[in-house]
Amino acid sequence: MADLARVFDEGDLDRIAGGRASFEITVPAPWADRTCEVAVPRRLACALCEGGGCDACERRGGYRLEGTERRVTVRLPSVLGGRTRIRIGRPFGADSVIGVLLLDVVLGEEPSASCSVVPEPEQPLARASEQTTARNRAVFAAVATLVLVVLLIFLIRGVVD
Ligand SMILES: [Zn+2]
Repeated sequence: MADLARVFDEGDLDRIAGGRASFEITVPAPWADRTCEVAVPRRLACALCEGGGCDACERRGGYRLEGTERRVTVRLPSVLGGRTRIRIGRPFGADSVIGVLLLDVVLGEEPSASCSVVPEPEQPLARASEQTTARNRAVFAAVATLVLVVLLIFLIRGVVD
């Protein structure tokens, strides 16, 4: 999936320029290991000072996102604990003021209004095996027809002789 947010390792993330913003979402337990789309608000808190104001956020305590595309698609952890932090590098592209988004995933009863789970695509393996079965049937039918024709030829010859 091309639009799935890329998750970088710790070292790669440190090299990404730009602000560090954090955002918290609540998801229910059945969402574990599912793909989730998150609508991020226009204003995000600075992850370094948590709103207090630091050099990174120019004392603003947060970041204001430009433009309308503020959706992030992430794969949720396979095991949801009380709180899991997902680091997403360049979540809104190279031009965004945000370099790394720290998404705090909190386990709860009801999902946040900003989140929706992405429907899983059909199982490609099941479809492949159905296709194989159909092809096998076609091959079997062709072979059976050939055998019948050969048998008929032999029978006709036997009658003629
Ligand atoms: Zn700050």
